[in-house]
Amino acid sequence: MFFIDNDDGRLGSIGLALQNYFQIASNEKPSRVKTSSSIPAEYLQDLDSQWNEHDKIRSEYHQKYLEISWEEIEQPEFSYFDLKLEISEKIMGCCSLCEKNCRINRRIENGFCNVNKPHISSEFLHMGEEPPLVPSHTIFFSGCNFKCVYCQNWDISQYPDHGRVLEPEKLAKIIDLRRRQGSRNVNFVGGDPTPNLPYILMTMKNSMENIPVVWNSNLYLSEHAMKLLDGFADLYLTDFKYGNNECAKSLSGISNYCEVVGRNHKIAFKAGDMIIRHLVLPNHVECCSKPLIKWISDNLGTKVVLNIMSQYRPVYNAFEHEDISFLPSKNEIREVIAYAEGLGFVNLI
Ligand code: SF4
Repeated sequence: MFFIDNDDGRLGSIGLALQNYFQIASNEKPSRVKTSSSIPAEYLQDLDSQWNEHDKIRSEYHQKYLEISWEEIEQPEFSYFDLKLEISEKIMGCCSLCEKNCRINRRIENGFCNVNKPHISSEFLHMGEEPPLVPSHTIFFSGCNFKCVYCQNWDISQYPDHGRVLEPEKLAKIIDLRRRQGSRNVNFVGGDPTPNLPYILMTMKNSMENIPVVWNSNLYLSEHAMKLLDGFADLYLTDFKYGNNECAKSLSGISNYCEVVGRNHKIAFKAGDMIIRHLVLPNHVECCSKPLIKWISDNLGTKVVLNIMSQYRPVYNAFEHEDISFLPSKNEIREVIAYAEGLGFVNLI
């Protein structure tokens, strides 16, 4: 496989960058779902006490996670994973899963994302994701907390009631079946998976198989939600879009983009393996592509796996914005790739 050096069979550079993920995918070690489910936690009622308990376990988690082997996996009465689930359900009552911070009761009202009941637009073994991920059991949730005028999946992301409603137990059975059919991971995407985090946690509580969780997201989560992902997501597949806040506001309706998404990349980078995607937009090489690639280099280093994507098409409302109403030129794509190579990125997909 391409992530193994052909000459001596050792892991190549991408293999090393995603080593934990590969070990879980091949069942050499337990997933974060399995390890978090194995760590006992105290059952507490109020949210502040629950967070204290969560943060206490989280501070030791990475050491324990690296130490836990299959032989040490247990089933406590109440686990760190159960605690994450309880906290996420409470957050739904005053939603701050993402930095839109709507603070409404999601069971009776809709916030900015308009996501109410989780709807699954489709699920299948995806062969078109990055090579280390395929076959990837990709689950597309309808709805999104972004309103990108050029959304390539707008028919899913802007219609949160599109698709099927499934009990988490049923989805867990499908995930387990897909694993037995050969999936290398379960890949939660949308739209964006963030508004459905409590449902996704409940689903994985019911999954029996050992399977790496891929969190495929714009990463505009709240800091609280990022803490819940730590110890749940094995690989962060992030969509890093903009190099400045003005473009994020005008094209996606999002404030404080750089601060939030930058902060969350730093958290995610410590919490799991990572592949960063960047879709090159026409006329946004200088204002977006280059500054965000420089930010990655300065803050996460140049060994991060980076996928510079050239498949932008002007769809949905893109034609209302003259700058993005056509394809990026070949020169623009080449310039972005050359810029990343010039900074020393070694794991470009
Ligand atoms: S997920 Fe984000 S956009 Fe949706 S209701 Fe919660 S805070 Fe608002």
